[in-house]
Amino acid sequence: MGIKTRFGNAYKRRDGYYQITSGIYKGKLLHRLVYEKERGPIPEGFVVHHLDNNKANYDINNLILLSKSNHHRLHMRGCNHPRWNKGRIDEAGGINFLSAEKNKGRTMSSIAEELGYTQAVPVFQYLKYRNLRWNQI
Ligand SMILES: [Zn+2]
Repeated sequence: MGIKTRFGNAYKRRDGYYQITSGIYKGKLLHRLVYEKERGPIPEGFVVHHLDNNKANYDINNLILLSKSNHHRLHMRGCNHPRWNKGRIDEAGGINFLSAEKNKGRTMSSIAEELGYTQAVPVFQYLKYRNLRWNQI
């Protein structure tokens, strides 16, 4: 069944994912587009997972980035959500959040501290996974 989205028309594939069928995003998966728009680029080796396991729910709050290995583990074992250690940055708003806070004059360390980290390393790595540096956001 077809739906209209802000990225163009989409249809529900047999595997449950929505795929865009028109415009410049033709062929792309809807949940990945939503994620990238709100949180920034999906790094190599990572996948976007639906927290409620409902592939039709592509709301940004239902999407989280996981490494391929963590994602595989989650689906194989059906165990509790393996928390990717950068998940807190995603929950706060990803690259858009970091960029806005930086523009307010905040340091990487103070942002990291607010997110519950003792060092700035997770923020640094979050950017590194996306081939970005602090002075580029
Ligand atoms: Zn998944």
